Amino acid sequence: MNKAFIFFILLYVMTTASFSYSQDVSRGPKCKITQLNPGLWEITIASVNVIASAGSDGILIVDANYSEYARFLEKAIDSIGGGKKLNYIVDTHWHFDHTGGQKIFGRDTKIISHKNVKELLSKDDILLGDTQKAYPDYALPNITFSDSLALKFNESDIIITSVSGSHSAGDAVVYFRKEKVLHIGDIIFADEFPFVDTEHGGSVIKILESLNKIISSYPTDTRIVPGHGRTYSISDLKEYAVMVERTIGIVRKEKQKGKSLKEIQNGNALEEYKGYAVSFSCSDWIEYIYKSLD
Ligand SMILES: [Zn+2]
Repeated sequence: MNKAFIFFILLYVMTTASFSYSQDVSRGPKCKITQLNPGLWEITIASVNVIASAGSDGILIVDANYSEYARFLEKAIDSIGGGKKLNYIVDTHWHFDHTGGQKIFGRDTKIISHKNVKELLSKDDILLGDTQKAYPDYALPNITFSDSLALKFNESDIIITSVSGSHSAGDAVVYFRKEKVLHIGDIIFADEFPFVDTEHGGSVIKILESLNKIISSYPTDTRIVPGHGRTYSISDLKEYAVMVERTIGIVRKEKQKGKSLKEIQNGNALEEYKGYAVSFSCSDWIEYIYKSLD
């Protein structure tokens, strides 16, 4: 990026609340950088949303994307941070598309997570049928919490709150108070059924509880950045929570009739909600709910 272009961007930022641009990195994933506020950015690489705070204290990112795409994330961080150091990574949960970059950046960075994330990353495990090796020590979180943790960074109050047991054991949401921006990890996938890691403590019942808590706890003009997909408003989140609540109700009713998981999956109980079946099918969603009801 040349200096004139940087100047143009700065000028544009000064005159508008936010802007975004896309760049296709040759033979790499699709990268998009969107400014949310002065000093606060969303970096989307291969559909995973990272938030970056860049300022006088350095750089903090929420989630670290895939290890395979670390150099693209690094490039994006450099372009917004002007060569400042990456000081902190905050994990929303343990999955490799959100923590993999720690294997590249972890040596000189503090990593903050829920204690369960550290535990899950510390041992070999199986995720979506694939073996996941324990992360090396330097890539593991070195600051952990159970309920919440607050820090001041780049003049911003950052409040990290556990919603563990929603998408997986160890979920957290990360709130930038002044900017009213909340990263909620994968407890939703925008406009589609989310994956729910029921093998590692995830539960659709807890997702609903967490969504309702978020809706009642944060200002109505909060911008919500999910791990995947477009930015949500609180009213978008309310609509999503209604979908979650109603689909739980439908599957619960079918289960109470004594139907097996297969029988419910073979029916069309979620016909009305099939528009949400994008990355994960109605059958997957029925399975996550069914297992969560156990
Ligand atoms: Zn995930």
